Amino acid sequence: TYVVTSPCVGTKDKSCVDVCPVDCIHDGGEQMLIDPVECIDCGACEPVCPVDAIFAEQEVPAGERGAIEAARAFFDDG
Ligand code: SF4
Repeated sequence: TYVVTSPCVGTKDKSCVDVCPVDCIHDGGEQMLIDPVECIDCGACEPVCPVDAIFAEQEVPAGERGAIEAARAFFDDG
């Protein structure tokens, strides 16, 4: 999956939503969140983010690893 990290907070540009072919990027409140089950790893969202908030899961920076579990928890609840 791809993961939205903290630069999205206060930004929520949503360019990613427009390019996602499976509509798996949702409004998570403070930031956008990618549904890790629905994401097909196409990578289309990563380059269009104006604040470089989106990473492939294995490339999420060390200080942002919590975003992976946050996305899983959000979609498990809902
Ligand atoms: Fe959507 Fe592709 Fe980004 Fe996954 S990698 S969230 S499928 S645009």
